[in-house]
Amino acid sequence: MSIEFNQCGKIAVVTINNPPVNALSHHIRQGLVEAITRINEDEDIEGVIITGEGRIFIGGADIKEFGKPPHEPHLPDVINFIESCRVPTLAAINGAALGGGLEVALGCRYRIGSESAKTGLPEVNLGLIPGAGGTQRLPRLIGATKAAKMIATGKPLNAKQALEVGILDTVFTENLLENAQLFLTNIINSNQDRTALCDVTSLPFPDPKGFEALGKTVKARARGQLSPLKALEAVEAAQNLPFKKGLKREREIFAICMESDQRAGLIHSFFAQRQVGKIPGLENSNTRNIETVTILGAGTMGIGIAIAFLDGGYTVQIFDINQDALEKALTRISKTYEGSIKKGRISESQMQERLSRLSAIQEMVSAANSDLIIEAATENMDIKKSIFHELDSLAKSDCILASNTSYLDINILARETKRPSNVIGMHFFSPANIMKLLEVVRTDTVSDEVLNTVMKTGKSIGKICVLSGVCDGFIGNRILKSYRKQADFMIEDGAMPQDVDRVMRKFGLAMGPFQVSDLAGIDIGWHTRRREDATRRETERYVDIADKLYDLGRLGQKTGAGYYLYEKGNRTPLEDKLVEEIILDASKRNGITRREFSDEEILNRITFAMVNEGAKILEEGIALRALDIDMVFVHGYGFPAYRGGPMFYADQIGAKMIYDGILNFAKDDPDSWKPSELLKTLAKTEGKFADL
Ligand code: NAD
Repeated sequence: MSIEFNQCGKIAVVTINNPPVNALSHHIRQGLVEAITRINEDEDIEGVIITGEGRIFIGGADIKEFGKPPHEPHLPDVINFIESCRVPTLAAINGAALGGGLEVALGCRYRIGSESAKTGLPEVNLGLIPGAGGTQRLPRLIGATKAAKMIATGKPLNAKQALEVGILDTVFTENLLENAQLFLTNIINSNQDRTALCDVTSLPFPDPKGFEALGKTVKARARGQLSPLKALEAVEAAQNLPFKKGLKREREIFAICMESDQRAGLIHSFFAQRQVGKIPGLENSNTRNIETVTILGAGTMGIGIAIAFLDGGYTVQIFDINQDALEKALTRISKTYEGSIKKGRISESQMQERLSRLSAIQEMVSAANSDLIIEAATENMDIKKSIFHELDSLAKSDCILASNTSYLDINILARETKRPSNVIGMHFFSPANIMKLLEVVRTDTVSDEVLNTVMKTGKSIGKICVLSGVCDGFIGNRILKSYRKQADFMIEDGAMPQDVDRVMRKFGLAMGPFQVSDLAGIDIGWHTRRREDATRRETERYVDIADKLYDLGRLGQKTGAGYYLYEKGNRTPLEDKLVEEIILDASKRNGITRREFSDEEILNRITFAMVNEGAKILEEGIALRALDIDMVFVHGYGFPAYRGGPMFYADQIGAKMIYDGILNFAKDDPDSWKPSELLKTLAKTEGKFADL
């Protein structure tokens, strides 16, 4: 598969044909150079169209070449060569033109698109900036501010938006190639070629205030990520330097990004996301057909899950023992869609179509026709057991029965039925219609067919499915519990919630652990702790600060107070003297002399706890691979993708440092700091989780 060269009269049509995404692999770059050379040497050719075969123009760089030494011709040279072509050049953008793909199009004098054209420079998402002239040519086409926005956010534009900003000269609803020929023939006949972007000396649409404001927004949203800031720097160079010097600066910045740990973390996240859904041994398993999904429990989670399946095109039924909850759920679902219309995400007719696939059912027996039933009822083993018992008697024989439980043992639920091979966990994250992560929990008895079906179904509704074994809290909540405990210890020993949260935000987490508690609700943790009361060891350290907050009705954001205070309609956490008093009192009651915690110690206590529990989860076979744990944290817990996930982070700083750190913490607290055997081995052998 390569470059196709056709000639229609005076016009050469160069088609990139490199499935699946027409990536700019080595042979494609070489083919482009050969095509342009041929055009330059053939005097009969008066214009060239570059386009892509199939539904994509050029998807970007070839991911198979990532991390390998690049071979000539390099993309920047290829694009410079296209730009120097003797005859007018036109990119006929028939689909996605991303990264290097858009850079190729920017090397052409004209760009037209089909309605499905999509243009973007998403390199920041991989910790990079565009490295083939994109940061210098795009500002010369659409102005620095709009270019910087595209490059620093990585968000692509659809055909209409690309036309509006001036990336596309025109959009054709049909017959793109025929129209491209007419368009180019007119240019040839008029004898007027356009100035190449490399020759544009002053940038259009100057807007220094807009650029400055954008800079502030980008910095605020970067949360420690380097590449968006570097993207701004590169566009600044386009404003301040002539083209060639700007290209040189782009190269330098690109090289800095390329060598950064963040780039390594983001590339890891990128590949891990592709890998995580692949379960060894499941490749040849059958799948069942899923069309109708019933959700039991119309609370917070039931509502989100229902929307996720409606968005994914499924027929959805929803049930709750509480009629009021059921009615409220229907209203909430409609309101969510109305909000999406207001934001321009869906049309009125799309909302109607989705709602037409939703029905509330009044009795559980109406779930009998379902292909998949997801239980999202109150977190209580007795309630869940009785639901599974009843489902067993009413669901059709090949129906998959799933539970959305956060902590409970799904093996017990499977044993409630006479069809344990059909019982599985589907642990969604809140809000379930938005959060990407789905932990698929493999019971001891589930069949490969059911597992495969659930993995595929999760993917079909846009989820990143991570396989977990059964244990208390599965992968995510089990690790959360381990570092949450250390966060509690630290506030009783001397730190304040705002110290811990600040350090973790600085590390790149979306929120610190105490902010998360306030968001999720202090009552959630309270109920979990009450469930655990019966089994908690007597010698185990227990911090009761959250219980005190609960007793005061401080349930977090929803009540305007938790670990922090919240002003009405504002989620910004404000420090509260009363919380400080509760914490100081807890230390005093327990005879603790409070001490200072450095930022480094806070960070290490939290991240080492994460890694240690992650290592135990690997040892026990609860997670298949370290990358599965990474994806749980990146997509479910706001762990910065640029750090790759907790296990990738561990590999970067080294198992030995973590193991030694844990031994040190264990001197004062051997009960909560028990190093995993796996971590110990890796520390001794200088091994990496990624190589297991
Ligand atoms: P919720 O209290 O908002 O809703 C639970 C609903 O279940 C209520 O409307 C209740 O009336 C209904 N219910 C109770 N018994 C029922 C029965 N026998 N049949 C049908 N409906 C019944 O709770 P939630 O936050 O939506 O949590 C539901 C489940 O999802 C729990 O197992 C929870 O652990 C899990 N979960 C919650 C979150 C979260 O962040 N809230 C995240 C992941 C998983």
